Amino acid sequence: MHAGDTPRNLNPDAAAGPGSFQLPGLTVLERGWLSSNNIVLHGAPGEGATLVDSGHCVHAAQTLALLRHALHGQALVRVVNTHLHSDHCGGNATLQREFGVPVSVPAASFAAVQAWDEDALSYRNTGQRCDRFTAQAALNPGEVLQVGARRWQALAAPGHDPESLVLFDAQDGVLISADALWENGFGVVFPELEGIAAFADVAAVLDMIERLPVRVVIPGHGAPFSDVSGALRRARTRLAGQRADPARHARHAAKVMIKYHVMEERSQPWQALIAWTVATPLFDGVWQRFAQRDASTASAWCEQLTHELVGSGALRLLDDVVHDA
Ligand SMILES: [Zn+2]
Repeated sequence: MHAGDTPRNLNPDAAAGPGSFQLPGLTVLERGWLSSNNIVLHGAPGEGATLVDSGHCVHAAQTLALLRHALHGQALVRVVNTHLHSDHCGGNATLQREFGVPVSVPAASFAAVQAWDEDALSYRNTGQRCDRFTAQAALNPGEVLQVGARRWQALAAPGHDPESLVLFDAQDGVLISADALWENGFGVVFPELEGIAAFADVAAVLDMIERLPVRVVIPGHGAPFSDVSGALRRARTRLAGQRADPARHARHAAKVMIKYHVMEERSQPWQALIAWTVATPLFDGVWQRFAQRDASTASAWCEQLTHELVGSGALRLLDDVVHDA
């Protein structure tokens, strides 16, 4: 699953021809699914490095090893989170323990972190794991993070997550886009699953990105890419499909959540997995809102979705135990 966990050093020596970019002072640790990418922003000599997003807690040891390698002896002086989904901030607790670093989170999420409000942080609703950490700073939209010669402006990017930020370096046109824009799509639009309109936010953020002089996107998942207009076109096509058929988006989202949980557990007996869906409020809400015609109960619906994931090869079922595929 995580064969893609190799550091991708974007340096000028690797540049060749159109579509390549000179990005000194920045290392992208491209991760496999479950962990978000981690981006190391190297400061000037003596300044130390800033890490953007820290992956999922089940990969914390791997994150630490990749980070130590990327730091080349430089000190880590700050962790910044684009948003607080469990695959973006799950390494925070380990990094705070190892390095004693302050953590900056989106200002809108700051109070929820301090109180460790698992409802506000979504971990209860989604049934996801995240090791508790503390935040030392709140990052507001419009604020600038200066690291070395680069100035990263935080921009609000609601849609996938109402409190998410993206970071933009206008000088070189580098966008750290989190889950607001991937090379092929964007993250699940979570508020919609709870009946809160957010497709328009996704559209507005895509418009905002189009207006920025972006030359390279470092997404939350997948490799950095430079075909920004192509990515925007694909994202808008996907969004149009979701707006036309919100039930399909909800069904896809529920499957993503089940797959994600099995990746967290690696394997789980069928009955325990279905019991987890029953104990996880998101599924009942989504079934009530979008899928009552598909199944008579939320748990029957989740069994149906899990069978589909097995059928498509996303999960494996062996002797009543579900494994990640
Ligand atoms: Zn996310």
